[in-house]
Amino acid sequence: MGEVTELIHQGGLKLKDLLRLFSFRDGCLVLSLFQLTLLKQLLLRYLRHLGYEVTYVRNFTDVDDKVIDRANKCGENSLALSSRFCEEYLVDMASLQCLLPTHQPRVSDHMELIIKMIEKIIENGCGYAVGGDVFFSVDKSPNYGQLSGQRLDHTQAGKRVAVDSRKRNPADFALWKAAKTGEPSWESPWGPGRPGWHIECSAMSAHYLSPRFDIHGGGADLKFPHHENEIAQTCAACEDSGVSYWLHNGHVTNNNVKMGKSLNNFYTIREITAKYHPLALRHFLMSAQYRSPLNYLVWQLEGSSDDFVSRYLPAYKAYLPTLYTEGPSGSDPDRVLAIDIDEERNPILAN
Ligand SMILES: [Zn+2]
Repeated sequence: MGEVTELIHQGGLKLKDLLRLFSFRDGCLVLSLFQLTLLKQLLLRYLRHLGYEVTYVRNFTDVDDKVIDRANKCGENSLALSSRFCEEYLVDMASLQCLLPTHQPRVSDHMELIIKMIEKIIENGCGYAVGGDVFFSVDKSPNYGQLSGQRLDHTQAGKRVAVDSRKRNPADFALWKAAKTGEPSWESPWGPGRPGWHIECSAMSAHYLSPRFDIHGGGADLKFPHHENEIAQTCAACEDSGVSYWLHNGHVTNNNVKMGKSLNNFYTIREITAKYHPLALRHFLMSAQYRSPLNYLVWQLEGSSDDFVSRYLPAYKAYLPTLYTEGPSGSDPDRVLAIDIDEERNPILAN
């Protein structure tokens, strides 16, 4: 823990997370995404409880292939769709009694920052522009693959999508994508276009935290290529960069199958909290070790709901006056402990 202690003395702990809007259903937060967020919420509260000052950044991916696709399919402007989802997300998070991050930047508001980072990567010889696109050159990143244990010759480039012949190495990835019809675009030194997905995370964490920070969260599926690319980019653009701890969550499954859009086997938070108290849901999601998959089973959620009402609620109530007088730093006791007990959502009370 030597490294962390040192960083705390320099100005608190720095925690970074990402929110991908494309997996929302009708603008509502889905269970698997909340499970990813909950880990950071618990960590945030615990670190603050220990007296650490924590800067928590959660960036919203509001410019992204899948969001654009989705908006085009329903004839909506993609930024309007993203913005609507962001607002709904904040409503869901408040209902789940989650704390607000220190910063919640959106890609669309940070184009200048992103372009500057790409320019720096090119200047340092790690990126190249071809016909309006810019690619990252993985051959210029000697430690590429260090996080996921992937070796360049074993990567999956070209397996799912035909490799772009303009790439110097099939594993090179896009930093900037030239504008296409029906897509939002921004002016850049390489012509109108939009950023590739990975670069937003590097640019925003370097800006809001610093190129070197403490904890980075995300789902286990983001380890490669997303987080690997993030490391390579920040390292190529900044002199001193690094993440001390990576937290990769296991996934929520339904009948042991990963919940996902293509299978349509997922639930929204609103569907669940219409029946169960948000704190009972939090209790259920905390029942597995964070890296293990968690199977969503109604009877287990019922069990969490019973546990919450019979065991934890009396403790919360007993603890309540202390919290009101002491007021833990960085939290709002009124919001944190606004436990409204709704009998209909807690079957044990109704019986
Ligand atoms: Zn990221």
